[in-house]
Amino acid sequence: MQLTSSQVALLGDTISREPRAGWFPVYNPSNGTVLAYVQDGTAEDTRTAIAAADVAFAGWSGLTAKARSIILKKWNDLVLAHQEDMALLVTLEQGRPIKEARGEVTYGASFIEWFAEEGKRAYGRTIPATMPGKHLQTIKQPVGVSAAITPWNFPISMITRKVSPALAAGCTVVIKPSEETPLCALVLLQLAKQAGLPDGVVNVVNGTKAAEIGGVLTSDPRVKKLSFTGSTPVGKLLYAQCAPTMKKISMELGGNAPFLVFDDAEIDAAVEGALASKYRNTGQTCVCANRLIVQSGIYDSFAARLTERVRALKLEEGWKEDSGLGPLINQKAVDKVRHLVDDAVSKGAHIELGGHAHGLFYEGTVLTNVSRDMELFSTEIFGPVAPLFRFETEDEGIAMANDTEFGLAAYAYTRDIGRAMRVAAKLQYGMVGMNDGLISTEVTPFGGVKESGLGREGAAEGLDEYLSIKYISYGGLGAI
Ligand code: NAP
Repeated sequence: MQLTSSQVALLGDTISREPRAGWFPVYNPSNGTVLAYVQDGTAEDTRTAIAAADVAFAGWSGLTAKARSIILKKWNDLVLAHQEDMALLVTLEQGRPIKEARGEVTYGASFIEWFAEEGKRAYGRTIPATMPGKHLQTIKQPVGVSAAITPWNFPISMITRKVSPALAAGCTVVIKPSEETPLCALVLLQLAKQAGLPDGVVNVVNGTKAAEIGGVLTSDPRVKKLSFTGSTPVGKLLYAQCAPTMKKISMELGGNAPFLVFDDAEIDAAVEGALASKYRNTGQTCVCANRLIVQSGIYDSFAARLTERVRALKLEEGWKEDSGLGPLINQKAVDKVRHLVDDAVSKGAHIELGGHAHGLFYEGTVLTNVSRDMELFSTEIFGPVAPLFRFETEDEGIAMANDTEFGLAAYAYTRDIGRAMRVAAKLQYGMVGMNDGLISTEVTPFGGVKESGLGREGAAEGLDEYLSIKYISYGGLGAI
C-alpha cells in the first residue's frame, strides 16, 4: 500500500516520490516498499533551524498566552480534521494496526488542546515580604529555544507531548524525529503552518545522521532546553553532551515494566489489562508490561486465559481493520526479540503460544516457566512477547518488580485495598496502574525514576519543563 493522494497533498513539497541526492527513503515496515523520500538533514541544516528558532523566539514569546492558545487550538482542530489521513500514515510508516493508529492521532492532539489551555495558567507567586517596603514575587518565563528528539513508536504524540507545552510556554522548537517515521512529523509541521504558526517557531530536521544532528542540538548555546524520548543509552549520551552548556533537560527513557497479578485479582480484568499493556503497538511502547509477575495460586489459570486472548489477535498488515498485531519496526527489532526468546527457551522457558517471526511480523507470544536468569527479565523486549514469572508472597513479588535499574511504569492487580495501597507505595516507579493497564493521558504527569529518566510530560508539570522561574525583590517601596 502506498501513500494516498490526500496524504501526498498534505505533505506537499516536503517529500519526493522519486530518489533524490541528499534525500533518504522512508519504508513501509509491513512490506518493505518505499513510501517517499525525505530530505536528509545535516549539521548545517540543524544550525539553520536553530538560527530560525532563535530569531522567532522574541516574537513568539512576546505574544500573550491567549494569542498562542488560539493558534494551538487551530492546530489541534486541523490534526483532528485529518485524523484518518494521519492514522493511515502512522500505520504505513510505523506499522501500527489502524484502530490503534486512530488513537495515536487523538492522543497526540490531546496534548495540543490541553496545553493550549494550560499555557494561560503559567502563574508566578507573591511571597510575603521579610522586611517592610519590599515586594517579593516570582514570574515564569519561557526557557528559550528548545530541542526535541523523538522516537518512532509514537510518531505523533511523542512530538506533540513536547512541542505543545513548549509553544504554550512561549518557546520555539527544533524537532529531530526518528528517521523511521519522518512523515508524521512533516504533516504535523504543515498543519501547524496552516494554523498560523509564524515562520521559525517550529522547525523539523529529519535525517539519518542522528549523532551529527544531535551533536549540534546538544552543543549549540542558543538551545536552552533538550527534551529527549528514546532509549536509556542514547539518553545518557545526550545528557552528558548537554552538560557543557548546562541545558535544562527532560529525559523520557526506556522501561522494564512489571505487571503483578495477585491471587486475589479479578482474573478477567487482569487478563484484559495485560493484553492492553503488553500487546499495544505490537509490544513496542515504553510502558508495555515487560515482566508479568503472577502469584502461584492464579498462575496456571491466568496463563491459560491470557494465551487464549492473545491467540485471537490477528497478525497482519496494520491497514486491515481487524489487524491486532502489526510488524515490528525493523529487522534489528525482530532479531532482538528472537534472541531474547531463544535465550529464554535455552534456559527452560515453555512457549505456550507463538515464538516465530515471519519477515518483520513476530507472532503474539506467551512464555511460561521463565526465570530471573533469562535475559528478558532485565531487558526491554519491545515486541509481543509476554514472559510469566511466578512468585509466592507479596514481599517477593514487590522485590521482583523492583529488581531493575528502570523505573518508568508498573502495574498490579489485586482486590485487597490494603495491599493495593501498600504495593503502589512500594513500587519504585514514576507511574503505577493499580487494576489499570492503560495509564497514559494528557492530564497526568508521565515520566520515570531511576534510569528511566528525568522530568515529566503532560499535566501542569509538563509545562514547567519549558519555563524558568525568576524571583524578583522590589525594594524601597515605603510602607505598602
Ligand atoms: P533511540 O534509538 O534512543 O532513538 C530515539 C531518538 O534518538 C531517535 O530520533 C533517534 O534517531 C535519536 N538518536 C539515536 N542516536 C542518537 C544520537 N547519538 N544523538 C542524537 N539522537 C540520537 O530509541 P528508539 O529505538 O527510537 O525508541 C525506543 C526507546 O524509546 C525504548 O527504549 C522506549 O522505552 C523509549 N521510549 C520511552 C518513552 C518514555 O516516555 N519514557 C516513550 C517512547 C519510547 P534515529 O531513529 O534517526 O536513529
